[in-house]
Amino acid sequence: MTLLYGDALEIIESRIAGIAEIERIRLSEAAGRVLAADLIAKTALPPADASAMDGFAFAFTPGVTRYRRMAGRSAAGHPFDGVVPPGHALRILTGAMMPPGTDTVATQESCTVTEDGIEVPASLSLGANRRLCGEDVRAGSVVLTKGTRLTAPALGLAAAAGFGEVTVARRLRVAVFSTGDELVEPGHPLPPGALNDANRPWLMAMLSGWGAEVTDLGILPDRAVSVRDSLAWAGERFDLIVTSGGVSMGDEDHVRHAVATLGGFHFEGLAIKPGKPVSLGWVGGAAFLGLPGNPVAGMITFLMIGRVLADRLSGAVPSREARIPAIAGFSHPRKPGRREWLRARLRTDGDHLVVECHPQQGSAMLSSMVWADGLVEIGEAAGPVAPGDPVTFLSLAEMLR
Ligand code: AMP
Ligand code: MG
Repeated sequence: MTLLYGDALEIIESRIAGIAEIERIRLSEAAGRVLAADLIAKTALPPADASAMDGFAFAFTPGVTRYRRMAGRSAAGHPFDGVVPPGHALRILTGAMMPPGTDTVATQESCTVTEDGIEVPASLSLGANRRLCGEDVRAGSVVLTKGTRLTAPALGLAAAAGFGEVTVARRLRVAVFSTGDELVEPGHPLPPGALNDANRPWLMAMLSGWGAEVTDLGILPDRAVSVRDSLAWAGERFDLIVTSGGVSMGDEDHVRHAVATLGGFHFEGLAIKPGKPVSLGWVGGAAFLGLPGNPVAGMITFLMIGRVLADRLSGAVPSREARIPAIAGFSHPRKPGRREWLRARLRTDGDHLVVECHPQQGSAMLSSMVWADGLVEIGEAAGPVAPGDPVTFLSLAEMLR
């Protein structure tokens, strides 16, 4: 029986382990890396009570709107050296520490400044325009958990919490092969019956975008011995081998035989469209992902399976793409049984999100993949789709990171 997409995700989660090696690196070089340990905040955020606005700080007294102005001020990086007595207000700037004795800030624009004091709005409440020490992060609490990928926002939080260095998993080492005698390196002459190798550039781009260290191992010929030797060699040196082509059931599908000889399979083929022949296994010490040769089938399976696998191997908490509910603006004949992804675009129609599909859904049609800004996902149980039916949209931008 052919496994379902959900079975494949379960297999990845239960059988694939993350890289064990870790390294300590500077935060400035950690973009895209995966935390190998929780980060415990070295400081509270904010580190002290601070003003969120330019204005005047004072101790709030219910019903009192006039405060006597004090000499001096508290500015960012230059705290006020003293105590503000009750009934008094001190000039304060955004980000400055709240001086002892104060708990509330009236913004500059809301105050009337008189000769000897200020008048604050009657509507002001205790603690207005004040950021409390630790209201974002408490000192000693976990700010980022093990497995977090250091995106730009996460880097910002790590820096704010006091980390100049972080412990991360070693970068995932991935080898990429294309297979097929018909393939030619792009830019070289194209003999009759030949095809430019379209797969390695996008595969390498996606893997780099997901934080891996990628090695281009070129095109494997359709020869059992060279496929086996090359895979055996790579199996000793990489965490993951990704191939495209040679995994369907044709005469020249040497990749399957080589993997079966050198390692084994977790699954061979899934109930999905496109990308039915996609296979997951191992070769020596490396995980093995065999993608279908057709570029769009390869791309979609790599986004939907390869990305989860790369996250898992990297020790990252798996990315969960947003599944956006939308309405079909197309009809699509199909029988239940397979999970299907169609190249699509999202548009708004009044209050609705409507999905349009590209008319060419063939698995070698690369221009439709460039046209698309996402994929419509049709579940295994669904029958034909008619205009107006609820469907699920996945954004490509999110998956490509
Ligand atoms: P295969 O799985 O090897 O039978 O390949 C399926 C189809 O994808 C065939 O038409 C191949 O020519 C095509 N194909 C395989 N690899 C590539 C590639 N790297 N670039 C473009 N087309 C490919
Ligand atoms: Mg082939």
